[in-house]
Amino acid sequence: MRCLVLSDIHANRPALEAVLQDAGSFDIIWCLGDLVGYGPDPNECVERLQDFNLLCLAGNHDWAALGKLGLDDFNVDARLASRWTREALTPQNLEYLDNLPTNLIQEGYTLAHGSPREPVWEYLLDASIATINFRYFQTDVCFVGHTHIPLIFILNDKRGRCYPITPPFSGPVQLGPHRMIVNPGSVGQPRDGDPRASYAILDTEAGTWEHRRVAYPVEITQERMRARNLPRRLIERLALGR
Ligand code: ZN
Repeated sequence: MRCLVLSDIHANRPALEAVLQDAGSFDIIWCLGDLVGYGPDPNECVERLQDFNLLCLAGNHDWAALGKLGLDDFNVDARLASRWTREALTPQNLEYLDNLPTNLIQEGYTLAHGSPREPVWEYLLDASIATINFRYFQTDVCFVGHTHIPLIFILNDKRGRCYPITPPFSGPVQLGPHRMIVNPGSVGQPRDGDPRASYAILDTEAGTWEHRRVAYPVEITQERMRARNLPRRLIERLALGR
């Protein structure tokens, strides 16, 4: 099975469309959460994903838009965007988001938005926190999003510690033999200094994984954010990938 693995679309429809175009054929989308928040097209993104065979998790921004998570941990801009998103979402799309699980095991892989230990909000930004998290899932590989940074943590079995590697973006790599936590990066708001949408293709039969990047018309998303009076800093950062 060929899975298109996405995370952190953040209501950025032009970025989502570019990924769907670039991905080629696939059997299913696995979306690791944060469909909404920050961006101008929350309803369009929630609805567009449902055109496909889809397995979808909830992220912290989805929960914030639902009022299931307080906004205290958000900065001012994220808070404003979250309030706007809550108002903008249709009752039907709010209900869809409300019914999403926070983690899953599928085809022998663990899926979570933030981390296997705290699926909704924990950030796996460094090796020490990632190392602890290897105790919280049973499968060989876990896929996470949330940090908006494409990354692979590899567990060194002898020392029981893990180390991060930056994905090569140069074709499929074999998953294993060591246990891994893998992040496809963010479709709608990359933060690794590259503004192109980030995503991945998983081939479950071959056990291969391919990190990919695709450019999208950032200025269209920015224009739509301006039209909705979304915070200026959120608009500007899209062009920087930060
Ligand atoms: Zn996010």
